[in-house]
Amino acid sequence: MAEFRKDPVTSGWVIVAPERAQRPKPSKLTETISEPGRCPFCSGNEDDTPPEVFAYRAPGTPPNQPGWSVRVVPNRYPALNSLNDVSQQSSSFYEAMAAHGVHEVIVESPAHVENLSTLDEVQFTRIISAYHQRMAKLSSDARWRSLLLIKNQGIAAGGSLLHVHSQLIAMPMIPPQLESEVDGAKAYYDFRGGCVYCAMIVEEISSSTRVVSVDSDYLAFCPYASRVPYETWILPRRHAACFESTAPADAVRLAPRLRETLRRIDQALDSPLFNYVIHSGPPHQGETPFYHWHIEILPRLIQIGGFEWGSGSYINTVRPEDAALLLREVAL
Ligand SMILES: [Zn+2]
Ligand SMILES: [Zn+2]
Ligand SMILES: [Zn+2]
Repeated sequence: MAEFRKDPVTSGWVIVAPERAQRPKPSKLTETISEPGRCPFCSGNEDDTPPEVFAYRAPGTPPNQPGWSVRVVPNRYPALNSLNDVSQQSSSFYEAMAAHGVHEVIVESPAHVENLSTLDEVQFTRIISAYHQRMAKLSSDARWRSLLLIKNQGIAAGGSLLHVHSQLIAMPMIPPQLESEVDGAKAYYDFRGGCVYCAMIVEEISSSTRVVSVDSDYLAFCPYASRVPYETWILPRRHAACFESTAPADAVRLAPRLRETLRRIDQALDSPLFNYVIHSGPPHQGETPFYHWHIEILPRLIQIGGFEWGSGSYINTVRPEDAALLLREVAL
C-alpha cells in the first residue's frame, strides 16, 4: 500500500508506492506501436482498464464499450489509494501517513495516437472539458487539498504507455512545488497588493520578446527564468485562482491555445518528449486574489543532471527570448 513519508530535514513528502513497479514497461519505444491490439487504452480494449468514471460518448452507447471520444478511468497502478489503509511505517523519529487520494487516467483518443499535437481542435476541446469536469468533481471533496493534472508524453518523460493520456491526482496535502508558488504569490500580494501572475502577464505582453502567442483569453510565453530550454507557460489573461472553478465556456477556450502551442513545440523541436502540468490553486482556499492557475509545458530535450539534483536549481542553455522567437516564427 502506498504511503506518504516525510523527510525529517526538508519536511518534503515522498510517495512510496511499490505497486507502481508492476505497471507496463515497454522495453523499447516501438513495442506498443507494433502491437496496438494489446494497448489497454485503444477503443475495443475497454475491459483492460477499470470501469470508466466519465466519458464523452456517442448517444446510446453503453459505458465501457466502444463509442467514446475521451474516457476517464481509475489508474490501475495508482500512486495513491482511496482505501482506509493505515499500514504506514511511522516511528518516533520518522513521520508517515497513508497515501490516500485519487489517481485517474484521462485517455485522450479512442484511436492509437501517440502525439497529442496531431489531434484536431474539436478533440482538444473535449479533452480540456474532461480535465475541467473531473477536477471540478474532485475539488468538491473536502479531503483533497490539491489537484494535479499531469501529462507525460513519451516513455523517457515518465509515461508507461504511449497512447495519448493524462493523469489527474487528488491529494490530502499540497505538494512542495505548488506550495512554494502559493506562498510566493501570497508574499508578493501582501507586499505589492496585486497578483504576481497578473503583473507578469502585463509585463510579458508589453515587452513581447518572450511571447509565443496570445489571444483575448490566454497568453503563451517562455518564462523569464525558464528552467529548461523551450519551457512554455499558458496563463488565462483574466485572474482566476482555480482552473476547475473557471466557467466551462472560458475553460474550453484554452483548447486552441494549448493545441497551437504544442504544435509549435512539435514542429520547431522535431516532436520532443514533454511534460505538462496544470497548477491550480488549492481547492479548500477557493478563489484567492493572489494565486493564478496556469499550465507549464516542459520539453524534455536535456537530461536532468547532478547539478539540478544537487542544487534544486537549473542550468538552461537556451535564452527564453530565443526560444520564444523560434516557437513564434515556426511555420505550422
Ligand atoms: Zn492504444
Ligand atoms: Zn492573477
Ligand atoms: Zn506553476
